[in-house]
Amino acid sequence: MKSAVVYEFGKPVQIKDLVQDSPKAGEVKIRMGAAGVCASDYHVMHGNAVLPLPVALGHEGAGTVIEVGEGVRGLNPGDRCILSFVSNCGHCRTCRTGLPNICETNIETGVMQFDGTARLHDGDLDIGQMAKIGVFSETIVAPQQACHLIPDEVPFPVAALIGCCVTTGVGAVINNPAAKPGISVAVFGCGGVGLNVIQGAVLMGARRIIAVDIHNHKLEFAYKFGATDVINSRETDPVEVIKSLTGDGVDMAIDSFGSTKIVADGVKSLRRGGTAVMVGLVPVGDTASVDVVDMIRGQKTLVGSYYGSSSPHETFKKLVDYYLRGRIDIEGLITRTYSLDQINEGFSAIENGEDGRGVIVFP
Ligand SMILES: [Zn+2]
Ligand SMILES: [Zn+2]
Repeated sequence: MKSAVVYEFGKPVQIKDLVQDSPKAGEVKIRMGAAGVCASDYHVMHGNAVLPLPVALGHEGAGTVIEVGEGVRGLNPGDRCILSFVSNCGHCRTCRTGLPNICETNIETGVMQFDGTARLHDGDLDIGQMAKIGVFSETIVAPQQACHLIPDEVPFPVAALIGCCVTTGVGAVINNPAAKPGISVAVFGCGGVGLNVIQGAVLMGARRIIAVDIHNHKLEFAYKFGATDVINSRETDPVEVIKSLTGDGVDMAIDSFGSTKIVADGVKSLRRGGTAVMVGLVPVGDTASVDVVDMIRGQKTLVGSYYGSSSPHETFKKLVDYYLRGRIDIEGLITRTYSLDQINEGFSAIENGEDGRGVIVFP
């Protein structure tokens, strides 16, 4: 079984032949159909998002169930599914209070399965799986909670993208109470997540969607997904332009990229009573500074959003429906496809700031 593994930070990933255990109780084995190449994978490779090594990379995927472990219910060989990059335990405090997307047990057990052990081995060495799935692998063994069933009409590359960037971006808007018809939205960063923030704003009936990026070709691409105005923040101050376009600032500002400067700019670009949402991850330990008086007197909200701010399975269900009804464009996000062996080319495309998303398609 071949898998793309990070053995050392800052080095290309290695495609390795690994030994894979059978699924244990509550687990399933999946043959991968497609896996998206996301900036979060790139950050793990470079040690900006620290995971214990070695680890099988990849967290945005979809595939077919081929084997189920003891006690698994509602999943059978042949079922097609999106893989959630958060498997929720169902009994920790955050799960019990309705936030399975930030399950505490999932964080505690990390790259191991819920029983604390690994299913992948390179000789005597145990290999973890990013987000308990590690989807850059021909097959994976994962918790049953990761699986979300999908109909046959949803192609695997589309389903894979719903597993991360579509849910993270669209969910950050549609699951936020500040999103209402007629609002104005500023979207910082027009990568895989940012384009989906734009699509979320379109779904909510935003009247103005201002896209901000440092690449003109990415801004041009953003128009296809519903941006009404674009700003190149390398050429001009985005806060000034947003204020001049809107008169008093936007109702929502969303950082899809992940930078402490953007977090501060997002808050500055809000009108009074507006909401800034942090979606993109900054390097671990970085801190942003915001103007406190401006936040208090302007009664502004600054909030974090992880995996669409809500139950991933609920958001997946909505997004599959939106996709099947032609309300969101997911195929249009896919600009490159690769085989598993070409994975490092996928990371070069991220490094070069190419448009849209690269997807690994399995034979
Ligand atoms: Zn991702
Ligand atoms: Zn939990």
